[in-house]
Amino acid sequence: MSLSLVIVVGLAAGATATAGVLLAHRAAQPQIQRPFAWSRAQPVQVLYDPALQPHQVDALRAAVDTFTCLGHDLQLEAAVPDAPLVIEGKPASGRITVTSMTPHTRTSDAGATTLWSVNGSRYNLGGARKDLIRDGAQRALDIDRVRIELDTLYDAAGTVRAATHELGHALGYLDCNREGHTMHPLLEKMGLDTTGLGVGDPVRL
Ligand SMILES: [Zn+2]
Repeated sequence: MSLSLVIVVGLAAGATATAGVLLAHRAAQPQIQRPFAWSRAQPVQVLYDPALQPHQVDALRAAVDTFTCLGHDLQLEAAVPDAPLVIEGKPASGRITVTSMTPHTRTSDAGATTLWSVNGSRYNLGGARKDLIRDGAQRALDIDRVRIELDTLYDAAGTVRAATHELGHALGYLDCNREGHTMHPLLEKMGLDTTGLGVGDPVRL
């Protein structure tokens, strides 16, 4: 329901101006879905490929700062030799790993996130759809590991938006359709609005 429609409905119903404002405020909260959660790894390590380009590392650092300010417990580090990013094609358990897209993995998106739950299921969140929760689970699925890939074709500002969006997926959030929100699926409509992404904020599974 749109904001303006709620205000019109409120006034038509004879509500006071104050009630109209309250209704509008409530309607302004985006519907944030978070069907996945990290419950076994805290802090969650975010390991990035040392071969990332400098503007990608800066973007990732900005993204981690954003979610740290929202209460998420993240630890950003370059991968070290004894902590390989990928083992047999999969990132190591308990970690978010970040690499550049290769020509082989490149899509039309600025970023892509692949998430594995502890039960072994794999989810591609770049194109998240609401039917993700097709088994009707009533609690968040436990995240085991995540791989984020960032394209190298975007400028610094675009890469910050993409990195923040993908890190949101890596923390279990799905796309939302409010323009200006970090979790909007289109880069050109993605903004800095992080409403609903804080630890403890109400979410839908
Ligand atoms: Zn997305």
